[in-house]
Amino acid sequence: MNSNSASDSAVGNASFALDPRRARAIVTAIAQRLIAATDELTQLDKAIGDGDHGLNMKRGFAAVLAEMDSLAATTTPALFTGVGRTLVMKVGGASGPLYGTLFMQLGKSWPPELSRAALHNCLHDAVAAVAARGKSQTGQKTMLDVLVPVVTALGTGADRGQLRALAGMCAEATVPMEAVRGRASFLKERSIGHMDPGARSSQLLIEAVCDDLEQNA
Ligand code: ADP
Ligand code: MG
Repeated sequence: MNSNSASDSAVGNASFALDPRRARAIVTAIAQRLIAATDELTQLDKAIGDGDHGLNMKRGFAAVLAEMDSLAATTTPALFTGVGRTLVMKVGGASGPLYGTLFMQLGKSWPPELSRAALHNCLHDAVAAVAARGKSQTGQKTMLDVLVPVVTALGTGADRGQLRALAGMCAEATVPMEAVRGRASFLKERSIGHMDPGARSSQLLIEAVCDDLEQNA
């Protein structure tokens, strides 16, 4: 057993090492959650975008599921890199390259040993890569408004329940924001009053990870 008790609450138990079988299960849970939310994500994107976010996520993650046998027949970092490449290749919208970058950077930065600090550093790198790719930051009504605070909270000791609740609050907090990046920014102040679709998909992604870790702790 690893004695790093700080990692217990975030990643299930202290000896948690994400072998490719577990990584596959988590990515599968993410894919299923996002595919199940296709209609909701589409509706959100219809309000302030072009209505394709649900289909973009569905197309990308269905391709991930279809390729899962070969993606998972490798190491955990390589699995994440493969997921990222698949998303970049299969999704036409902005979200494909952005979520693709998230997973590709996870693959690059994945730590050999999983402690809370190592996991936080890796996730921090992944989210920073999304921000660099999108030339974006928090407060602009995007997926970063969920991803950044959740990763920060992980680094300061939040447990799974707190991370899940924070993701929900942060997605809600995009409602009164005016979009500064992405298609919704074309609407300027008319983007106010609607949840950002990418913030919602990021919330669902985080919920899927937390639920899977809880069920398999
Ligand atoms: P598109 O905008 O090309 O139609 P999607 O509808 O699939 O792509 O995804 C839209 C979501 O992508 C937005 O709700 C937002 O969260 C996210 N997004 C768009 N542009 C950026 C950006 N530059 N940085 C971060 N996230 C972005
Ligand atoms: Mg769209």
